[in-house]
Amino acid sequence: MGRLSREETARLIKEMSGKIVITTHKSPDGDAVGSCLGWLNFLKKLGKEVKAVMSEKVPYFFDFLPDVESVEVAESIESADWLIITDTSEFERTGLKSINAKSVLIIDHHITASPSEEFYYLIEPEISSTCELSYFVMKLINEELIDKSVAVPIYTGILTDTGCFRYSNTSPETHSVASELLKKGVEPYFVSSNLFERNRVSKFKLLEYVLGTLEMWFEGKVASVVVYKEFLKKANASPEESEGFVNYPRSIEGVEVAVLFREIDGGWKISLRSKGKVDVSQIAKELGGGGHKMASGYEVRTSLSSAKRQLKEILGQVLGEGK
Ligand code: 5GP
Ligand code: MN
Repeated sequence: MGRLSREETARLIKEMSGKIVITTHKSPDGDAVGSCLGWLNFLKKLGKEVKAVMSEKVPYFFDFLPDVESVEVAESIESADWLIITDTSEFERTGLKSINAKSVLIIDHHITASPSEEFYYLIEPEISSTCELSYFVMKLINEELIDKSVAVPIYTGILTDTGCFRYSNTSPETHSVASELLKKGVEPYFVSSNLFERNRVSKFKLLEYVLGTLEMWFEGKVASVVVYKEFLKKANASPEESEGFVNYPRSIEGVEVAVLFREIDGGWKISLRSKGKVDVSQIAKELGGGGHKMASGYEVRTSLSSAKRQLKEILGQVLGEGK
């Protein structure tokens, strides 16, 4: 148990026997869904008994991914010999109420990850995505098993976590992996048109309400927006349709940190984005969450005004203003 290298992870997976369950974090993004499905299809080809279980339904814009319909939605995992958790290192983030597994392997790339030493874990904070990391491990196991049904979800996770190869986590290796995935049958326009060209009108209605909440703090260094539940109702939109909205305040000139407050049951989910000067993973970690230097998040069980006050105080210190 404990930290593993890529090679050790490959060996461990090869030797896994019994029932394997794969899961990921709640509010699953492209890297979460992609890594789950990539591993599901790869492990099936490797001859393993495996299924994917998530605490929430996969958002509709991922419905083109191979075998996405086989993902089970459940409150808990009854029994498994092995549990593989991708794109998070914490049980709580899976959203599952209880998990009964003999052994656990974590594959993740978050800088704030601090897994229990009772688990096996492969964590590389420098890599673009859990999908890119998974691809390297799969290659060590058996490259021939990486067919289109594995390549498409893996490519999808890399594409979404790098903001279509735009963010600073995009490395030369990321592009090499993408090139290899294209040779395995991925059609880039099939993936990107399914992901980005199937927006619903409800999303635009929601965006209109959300942009109306824009606030600028600290002389324009911070921009924040709010997604109230009431907006979802008025726009007839689902929560996942606000995915990516935080990029609007982030795109404003002079903004260093963008914030999106999303109303959830009993509190608020906060997304933080940085343009590079501020390490938002540290801010999120201080407030009970985590993530990456440029993208992180956390949850609070308070009112919106308290959540704003708390965040403003920390941002004030970080930006060298306020107190
Ligand atoms: P998003 O803002 O898109 O939900 O998440 C941005 C990044 O921060 C993702 O890498 C995500 O995994 C991480 N993140 C978001 N919310 C939380 C949280 O509550 N806890 C932790 N540990 N990480 C989070
Ligand atoms: Mn990720």
